[in-house]
This record gives sequence, C-alpha cells and structure tokens, in this order.
Amino acid sequence: MAFKVAIVGRPNVGKSTLFNRLVGRRIAIVDDTPGVTRDRRVHPGRLQDLRFDVVDTAGFEVAAADTLEGRMRAQTEAAISEADLIVFMMDGRAGLMPDDRAFADVVRRSGKPVVLAVNKTDINSAEAGVLEAWNLGLGEPVGLSAEHGRGMVELRDAIHAAMEEAGALEEEAVEAPAAVVDANAMVGDDIDPDEEDPGYDITKPVRIAVVGRPNAGKSTLINQIIGEDRLLTGPEAGITRDSISVDWSFKGRDIKLFDTAGMRRKAKVQQKLEKLSVADTLRAIRFAEVVIVVFDATMPFEKQDLQIADLIMREGRAPIIAFNKWDLIEDRQETLTELHEKTARLLPQVKGLQAIPISAETGRGIDKLFDAAFRTHETWNRRIPTGPLNRWLERATAQHPPPAVAGRRLKVKFITQIKTRPPGFVVSCSRPEAMPQSYVRYLTNGLRETFNITGVPIRMALRTSD
Ligand code: GDP
Ligand code: GDP
Repeated sequence: MAFKVAIVGRPNVGKSTLFNRLVGRRIAIVDDTPGVTRDRRVHPGRLQDLRFDVVDTAGFEVAAADTLEGRMRAQTEAAISEADLIVFMMDGRAGLMPDDRAFADVVRRSGKPVVLAVNKTDINSAEAGVLEAWNLGLGEPVGLSAEHGRGMVELRDAIHAAMEEAGALEEEAVEAPAAVVDANAMVGDDIDPDEEDPGYDITKPVRIAVVGRPNAGKSTLINQIIGEDRLLTGPEAGITRDSISVDWSFKGRDIKLFDTAGMRRKAKVQQKLEKLSVADTLRAIRFAEVVIVVFDATMPFEKQDLQIADLIMREGRAPIIAFNKWDLIEDRQETLTELHEKTARLLPQVKGLQAIPISAETGRGIDKLFDAAFRTHETWNRRIPTGPLNRWLERATAQHPPPAVAGRRLKVKFITQIKTRPPGFVVSCSRPEAMPQSYVRYLTNGLRETFNITGVPIRMALRTSD
C-alpha cells in the first residue's frame, strides 16, 4: 500500500502547481489514452528520494453539492479521507485568510497528520505570511515556492518524517534506491542553509546575520566589522559583495554576512527607520545559520528583542545575543550578571544561550562575539552517535523513570538523532500522545547537559515504538 498525500487548501494558493511538480506531466498522457480506465484520484508522485501517491482533489466527482464552494469542500473532505498525510497549503503573499482557517478546521477535524506549507515565498512579502501561518495551530510552517522549486528539501524532510512515523518507509526502501537524480528534485534558487550537506565542513563559510530592533546598533556593528582591516584575510581577498551578502574571513574562518541593503544606506543617510520590518528580519534569519541579535544594553529585553530572539529559535537557527553599547554601562560586572540571569529567565527555550557584551562603536568584544558564533555554529551542526545516546537514555530513564498514565507506566525505548542544524532527535516510546511535556523537558535538558548541546535550539519528536 503506497503512502497517500493530499494537497489541500483554498483556491489559488498553488495546489495544482505543487501537484504537477510532484506528479510530473505523465498524467495527461495516460489519461488521454483511449480505453484505459484508471483510478483518476491518485497518481504516483515523487520528491527527491521519496515515493508516494498524490491524491488529486479534483479527481473526485462529487454530486452532492451544487454550489462551487460546497463542491470544493466535499472534494477536499473526500481527498482527506483517502490520504495518509495532508499537505495543507496557504498563500504566503495573500497572508492568512478566513477561508484558510475554514479549510484548516476541516483538516484538523480529520485527525490526520499535517504538513503546513506556505507557498509563494519567492515573493518577498510572503515571509510575513509564514509567520502568520503559526496561528493556524498546525505546527511549524514549511515555506516554499511550488513554482520555483524552493523549499523542496524542507518539504521532503517533513513528508519523510510523516512517512517514517507511519512506518511507510521500510517497504519503500526495498524498491527505491537511496539517491535518485530527478528533475523534480531541483531546489531552484533556494538559499536556505538547511538544504546544504548536513556534514560539518570547517572550510565552508559560516552564514551570519545581524538583526535587532531599530537603534540597537546593527549598522554600527556591521560597519565596524567590515570596516576593519584586521578582519580581512589579505589585500587580494578583500571584501566581496553580492546583492545579499558580504564575504570576509575572521580567525581563519570564511564568513558570509547577510547584507541588509538598507542597513548601510540608512547609516549613510542618517535616516531612521522607526519600525522593525518583520519581513526583513525574517529574510535575514532564513539566510543565516548563526543570527546575532543586537540588544541595546542600556534598554535590554524590550518586547521586540524577545520576539526576535524567539523567532530565531523557532526558525531553528543558532542565536547569539550581543549586549551592545557596553561603553555606556558603568557597573559592568553587576550588569552582566543581571543580564545573564535575565537571559536565562526570559529566553528559557534555549539553555546556555550565548550573550556577549560588546561596543559596536569602539569594537570591543567583537572578537569574543565571533568566537561565540563559531562555537555555537559547531554545536548547531553536531551529530551524536546512536551508541552513546542510548547509553545515556538508559541511565536517564533508570534515574527518573517515565510516569504511569492511566495505570500503565510509559516506556521510553530508543533515541536517535535524525538531523542536525539544529540537532533533532526522535525518541521511540509507548504511547507518545500520553507522554507529559515535563518528561520531554527532562530528557531534553539531560541531553543538553550530557552532550554539551548548549546555546542552540533542539528538536525532539516522539514516535510510537509498538
Ligand atoms: P490552486 O488553485 O490552489 O491549485 O492554485 P494554482 O496551482 O492553480 O496556482 C494559482 C496561481 O498561483 C497560479 O497563477 C500560479 O501560477 C501561482 N503560483 C503557484 N505557485 C506559486 C509560487 O510558488 N509562486 C508564485 N509567485 N506564484 C505561484
Ligand atoms: P540600528 O538602527 O540598529 O542600525 O542602529 P545604529 O547602528 O544606527 O545605532 C543607533 C545609535 O546608537 C546611533 O546613534 C549609534 O551611534 C549608537 N550606537 C551604536 N552602537 C553603539 C555603541 O556601541 N556605543 C554607543 N555609545 N553608542 C552606540
């Protein structure tokens, strides 16, 4: 039985475009062959190495409803009932519409696993739509462009995780060779760092972005960094710029710095943008592996600061806080202790978050900032072998066994790291749905401590083991 994926969403979000990308042009040819009757509702599809069937919503003949809306709804429900996984699609450019919520309700009621896809991210304004998509409560959105093939690796990973969860991969593995070169696998012009080889390669440039609220000192920091000769590898290397990044090297590591075009222009013209642009911030975060959030140390932890830091962690990037304008702080030791305490309390999502005092104006602390950035980048790429992981799990569960729910003790069996950038783990256990969050936190914290995975987000998923 092949795994069936249905693409669902309101009209015009780009379902057919994705459908065609997954299924290819074959259908039309087959369908035109006279005398061939076939199931019009599912078509073999593929995404890179993954094989599955794609349910064609339009293939359902529904007589019941006479309005277009009723027909669409009935078709959607029919497609959902047929599917093992729903790809719920939203149009990022249009943003969240009432109809999206209506369709999302239908999907949620079905109780089927869902991948939330936000399409048309080739258009700049669509990035705000990706943020809005969180409001649907369907989990972490995957930004993509069905038309340009962007985000296909992330979509593939999300579908892969669902197939794995459903146990649909073992049977597939027999027929499908691991790496298949495929026109559908083109990733287009995507610059998402998640799409690179996950292996840690010290010769590859580290992608860094500098974000923060207006007046925190971003432009001053960037000008300080790229204006300094000591940061250059040599005269011939220099600094090269393209439209999105500035290349240079520091302590022997190549760096690609996200170039917020407006940033330097703004600094030159001395004109202040008072509003934080979410789209710009998100674009910078998407580009980067490590994201430096600049806080104004004289006014730290404002609401926007926390929102930006939270966004970086939700996007799975490695965050570093720079407490800027340190030259203005009088009682430095005391202030630093206080700010570190606040960091741990107000941003508890990531334990051991690196927070470095700097002065963008004088350049002090910038060395340490980049040391922290490189260290964190390495942790973000870290892969821990399955052996030590499971030896740790055995100890952790013996020390503090999972609770009993409804009279039966939950069992935790096996852990494996399924991804890096950031590190992601799957824990096999009995009744994942019953596992309390507090126990998942216990495991996450234990992992962090034992393997020294600090300062980066961790993804942890539970999977049923029986
Ligand atoms: P459906 O009604 O959900 O099946 O949507 P379609 O696949 O027919 O797409 C609706 C419109 O959005 C068409 O004009 C597509 O060309 C356009 N579209 C689809 N995907 C993308 C995308 O990734 N980026 C952009 N810019 N347009 C897209
Ligand atoms: P942006 O809006 O985040 O790019 O902030 P700017 O770089 O334009 O800086 C905002 C203001 O803070 C400017 O007046 C800077 O001169 C000042 N500033 C930036 N960094 C420092 C610093 O390290 N120390 C001091 N005292 N002032 C700073």
